[in-house]
Amino acid sequence: MPGWQHPFGTCKEAVRVDLSYTAEEERFRDELRQWLSAHIPEDWTKPGFWEAMSPEANFEMRRDWERDKALAGFAGIQWPTEYGGRGGTPGMKAIYDQEMVLARAPQTVNGLGLTFLAPTLMAIGSDAQRKEIIGPMLRNEVIWCQGFSEPGAGSDLAALTTRGVRDGDDFVVNGQKVWTTNAMHGDKIFTMVRTEPGSEKHRGISMLLIDMHQPGVEARPLKQMSGASEFGEVFFTDARVASADCLGEIGDGWRTAMLLLSFERGASGVAQYTEFRRQYDEIVTVARALGRDQDPVIRNKLARVLTELECLRYHAMYVLTQVEQGRDLGFEASMTKLQWSETFQDLWEVFDDVLGPDATLTEPVPGLDVAALHAQAMWSRSVTIWGGSSQVQRNITAERVLGLPR
Ligand SMILES: Cc1cc2nc3c(=O)[nH]c(=O)nc-3n(C[C@H](O)[C@H](O)[C@H](O)COP(=O)(O)OP(=O)(O)OC[C@H]3O[C@@H](n4cnc5c(N)ncnc54)[C@H](O)[C@@H]3O)c2cc1C
Repeated sequence: MPGWQHPFGTCKEAVRVDLSYTAEEERFRDELRQWLSAHIPEDWTKPGFWEAMSPEANFEMRRDWERDKALAGFAGIQWPTEYGGRGGTPGMKAIYDQEMVLARAPQTVNGLGLTFLAPTLMAIGSDAQRKEIIGPMLRNEVIWCQGFSEPGAGSDLAALTTRGVRDGDDFVVNGQKVWTTNAMHGDKIFTMVRTEPGSEKHRGISMLLIDMHQPGVEARPLKQMSGASEFGEVFFTDARVASADCLGEIGDGWRTAMLLLSFERGASGVAQYTEFRRQYDEIVTVARALGRDQDPVIRNKLARVLTELECLRYHAMYVLTQVEQGRDLGFEASMTKLQWSETFQDLWEVFDDVLGPDATLTEPVPGLDVAALHAQAMWSRSVTIWGGSSQVQRNITAERVLGLPR
């Protein structure tokens, strides 16, 4: 069709997806594998190990292990060495993500800081902010929370009402945030605050980096259906933050947030594929143990979800190729978020179908512990909500990637 421009370029300039890694990247894989095999006790990889622990003990063990890993040089893989990173390639980061999953390494406790805040700091933070924040974050000395959502502002983030009033060199902050991941463990919170009185919508907002250990900040846990309290509410009552602790320009927090969200939404598809593919095999094992693998409807659903997983794999490699070529994903990150989150949810719906009415039992077959799988099935309900719901990602893809009318 003459004049028609595909969002990823015309056919002539189509991206050639690269599925290989360099020799240097493969050497990095070997080194990482050796470290992981020497530092992950076998018990930790057994089903139900982490689920059987109290949430506090679970968090602290992962926090310490992740710090040791950072000190051994296996953190900030792609970040510049001057900020404590390894200065590696995007391919090394993809290998790191893959190997962490394959080794059943403990999950990060500082994901909001490491995955979203750090790249934003590297892109637009001041030198002082980068130096002060990134090192302690890598070593888990400071756990970061994300203070965006409010009771009246979720998808419509610009409706936020938490306000900051200038007082000398500080802002005095009042308001409430909700669904704050790690609220009970947080040391600092990157927070969207309306700092220009009378401003509306996305204007007059700043992203302030607020210390949570002060009298004006109170975190309260929220209980999830799994029984855990991975997130909570955060109340600000005359909390203080220096105006120098603003990420990006004061009043320009919307732009900062959009950049940060593009990192949140474009998270590593390679890691996700690796993890979900292993979970798929675990679900097939349960189906076999229950004799459900002979049910044609279940077989059909398993085949369909396997197809989705393979599409996710190739999309992940497409994204990785783009990043390696230095291309900014921008709004395309919404497509990645949409694809991985919906694939993940479909996967766990098959698990529920396999168990049927036994979906509430932790041991549907004697000797078959499915507690960890249950936890994932429950978690899967949330992934099409956080980081921007599926409906919102579809809107962004339609308007910003495909250029369809609003
Ligand atoms: C596990 C989890 C962890 C989270 N962690 C954090 C965190 O650390 N920090 C933080 O700030 N927030 C966090 N959140 C909150 C999350 O970002 C919000 O839940 C999300 O943005 C949706 O907002 P909402 O819940 O207010 O739903 P709403 O915005 O009220 O949406 C309700 C429904 O309406 C739909 N909808 C809304 N607007 C449109 C539209 N324009 N077009 C079509 N459909 C629309 C939505 O898709 C959804 O189905 C977390 C949420 C979860 C589930």
